[in-house]
Amino acid sequence: MESATLALIITVAIAVQVVVFALPGILQRKSRVGVEGGDEPVSAPVSAPWEGFRSFEVSRREVEDEAGEVCSFYLSPLDGAPLPPYLPGQYLTFSLTPGGESERPLVRCYSLSDRPRPEHYRITVKRVQAAAPELPPGRSSNYLHDHVPTGARLQVRAPAGHFHLREEPLPVVLIGGGIGITPMLSMLNTLLAGGSGREVWLYYGVRNGREQIMKGHLRALDEAHPNLHLHLCYSDPQPADREGIDFQHRGRVDLPLLRATLRLMRYQFYVCGPRAMMESLVPGLEEWGVAPGDIHYEAFGPATLKRIPAAAPAAAQAPGPGPEPPRQITFSRSGRSAAWDPAAGSLLAFAEAQEIAIDSGCRSGSCGCCQTRLEAGEVSYVQEPDADIQPGHCLPCIATPRGDLVLGL
Ligand SMILES: Cc1cc2nc3c(=O)[nH]c(=O)nc-3n(C[C@H](O)[C@H](O)[C@H](O)COP(=O)(O)OP(=O)(O)OC[C@H]3O[C@@H](n4cnc5c(N)ncnc54)[C@H](O)[C@@H]3O)c2cc1C
Repeated sequence: MESATLALIITVAIAVQVVVFALPGILQRKSRVGVEGGDEPVSAPVSAPWEGFRSFEVSRREVEDEAGEVCSFYLSPLDGAPLPPYLPGQYLTFSLTPGGESERPLVRCYSLSDRPRPEHYRITVKRVQAAAPELPPGRSSNYLHDHVPTGARLQVRAPAGHFHLREEPLPVVLIGGGIGITPMLSMLNTLLAGGSGREVWLYYGVRNGREQIMKGHLRALDEAHPNLHLHLCYSDPQPADREGIDFQHRGRVDLPLLRATLRLMRYQFYVCGPRAMMESLVPGLEEWGVAPGDIHYEAFGPATLKRIPAAAPAAAQAPGPGPEPPRQITFSRSGRSAAWDPAAGSLLAFAEAQEIAIDSGCRSGSCGCCQTRLEAGEVSYVQEPDADIQPGHCLPCIATPRGDLVLGL
């Protein structure tokens, strides 16, 4: 081959590589200046959501799995006014009264599990079993399953949450473990309804076919959309579950599986699942080289995720001065004060241990129920707060003190 021809081939190859690597960045910049990716719009809701709680009626219930442990609730507003749209991945907050109107309500969050529709919202709830024989089963989930029939009324706060589909026109990897699949369903249904052809990988980890939800719906989507890459992972398949037909992978959703099945390119990752899955997958993705900004995740309960720290300045790496002294926490309204140390856990757990009256709901920084006035001092958060925190306040369920504090409790 002549050297001129060889030089031409090399030049073309380099040009192709430059385009391939630059394209995601170019597309990303485009999306920031408002260019639509062609999907169902994933922009911020237009109408202002309502303040406080709004009354809804359960217009339909649907059991979603063979085990009968997961049920969807379709919710229509009693006032009949159209529902504001939401961002796929967001959740609703409920005030539930299993003990009757005279008892303190339970506040719980449930993800919206379908794409936005003007006439109803949908949530999908898993019945929570007792964590130990001496403990009661989950109060809200069992109440919803057993005592909230079609026609029942529920008090609901407007859609909220920072875990939602981003507008970036990149291929999307959705990873849902167990009931953590619910926000992924909302994202998936939104992405596919737009018909843009944007590539979507769905990894759904569940024990077996009895526990998998929305089998028929997922199968129909898989058949209808060549741009959907469905990976059902059963960790404990039953004899009736056929590998390669009912499910694709034996085992959990883990990094080796992602590495074996994803092409080498840039994606937006969305992860929601049990604590063990989150604590291995999210740092695993970062170690694999995925930019932290391309990994979005949510935990349904208290989870402390160790992210890879950004390179710390040299001075910060010097050995510390030794164990930190306990912090003094003053509860101004109760006129009490006590010493906190790391073994005491979150400020919510600490306040409860001191028998200080404090409201709480999700215990994971989502519902905002425990929001408390921070009268003096500063707090750190063990995970990013999802609820919007008013100035001068903190969320004790995910906060620890940075020094002495005065709380308005
Ligand atoms: C943003 C967000 C979205 C969510 N989306 C969904 C969703 O789409 N679908 C869904 O099903 N769930 C979802 N959840 C979880 C949901 O909000 C509830 O946490 C879940 O339903 C359990 O609530 P519960 O009242 O039934 O259980 P709880 O009454 O809170 O009990 C939970 C567990 O604690 C145990 N327990 C009770 N007392 C004690 C004790 N003293 N010590 C130790 N353990 C005890 C119980 O036995 C039970 O196993 C979401 C949570 C968040 C934060």
